[in-house]
Amino acid sequence: MTPAKPHSPAPLPPNALISPLSTSPAPLSPEALPAGRILGIETSCDETAAAVVENGRLILSSLVASQVDLHAQYGGVFPEVASRQHIRTISSIVEGALQQAHLNLRDVDAVAVTRGPGLPGSLVVGMNMAKGLALGSGLPLIGINHLEAHVYSAWLHAAESPALAEPRFPLLVLIVSGGHTEMILMTGHLQYRRLGATLDDAAGEAFDKVARMLGLSYPGGPSIQKSAEGGNPRAFDLPRAWLDETWNFSFSGLKTAVLREVRRIQERNRPVPVPDMAASFQAAVVDVLVGKTLRAAETFEAKDILVAGGVSANQALREAFAAQKRFRVHIPPLSLCTDNAAMIAGAGYYRFAHGQRDGLEMDVLPNWVLG
Ligand code: ADP
Ligand code: MG
Repeated sequence: MTPAKPHSPAPLPPNALISPLSTSPAPLSPEALPAGRILGIETSCDETAAAVVENGRLILSSLVASQVDLHAQYGGVFPEVASRQHIRTISSIVEGALQQAHLNLRDVDAVAVTRGPGLPGSLVVGMNMAKGLALGSGLPLIGINHLEAHVYSAWLHAAESPALAEPRFPLLVLIVSGGHTEMILMTGHLQYRRLGATLDDAAGEAFDKVARMLGLSYPGGPSIQKSAEGGNPRAFDLPRAWLDETWNFSFSGLKTAVLREVRRIQERNRPVPVPDMAASFQAAVVDVLVGKTLRAAETFEAKDILVAGGVSANQALREAFAAQKRFRVHIPPLSLCTDNAAMIAGAGYYRFAHGQRDGLEMDVLPNWVLG
């Protein structure tokens, strides 16, 4: 097995963002990848999750305890509440994942855990659990970038269905979630080039905030999608921030435009046409996400496109990608799009196979950038 390249000898400043690119090993050919069964642990935000995955593809078990009902009363994730809930749930979820896979800890080859990005207090719970397991069992410990894990959910999906082909490199990756909107070019396994990201709100965050403005329930994505089904996407002419010359995104102007329209209507004592507003907002987000992704895929001569993260569950977004025939677009199903630990174990397998081993002194990286 090829050992991982050593870290850069230059001392890093405090709080430095260590990108996996800087420590990425040379990719192994698929035939050279060894077998490996990985226990994955995820606690970066508001899902407590554990899973066992074989060879980065076969999900032997996957458990997710969502805290969404707990946070709904706050209209968003309440960090302190999230970490306390992770502490309550983590042990039983990890035990459950092993039981569901009919395995003991000695039957797995490594423990992979989300190291970042995410909420510091939440990340620490999963990290400490993983360290405890590694220390107690002698298993290797592997810290995983949560965004890299979202990417690897596509390989799990391809393995689930024989009709699906695996993503091909160069691969244009769009990650759209509650906390992230990232455009990344993947040139091979574990090789990332970050092209752009949101300058303000993440796409999912915009869905959540606009839902709140419209009096729709949390999380906003599904409720906006549902409301939009009965609305006209051309009812309101909302702005699209194309940010030409860059691969960045911005959704705060769109959010403010919705707020302004809502206030204008309310000042006239008229009811807000919620389905029309939801449909117009959704159309504006989808236009920009799909338009820029296709343009980037052409510019960088990508073979395929991969869309991951919670917002990729959006039906209008999926339909817009399906409507074009230039690129094969990989979008994992909802169960793999929203936060889960199978994707952590999936990415963990590739890191394990390429020789990554982390020490017990590993700390969480709440602002870890991919690429
Ligand atoms: P994070 O972990 O960064 O919070 P997730 O990957 O868990 O993100 O995804 C959650 C986000 O996805 C939320 O912002 C939610 O509103 C959004 N989302 C979920 N389903 C949909 C949908 N059908 N349409 C649009 N957004 C959605
Ligand atoms: Mg989440």
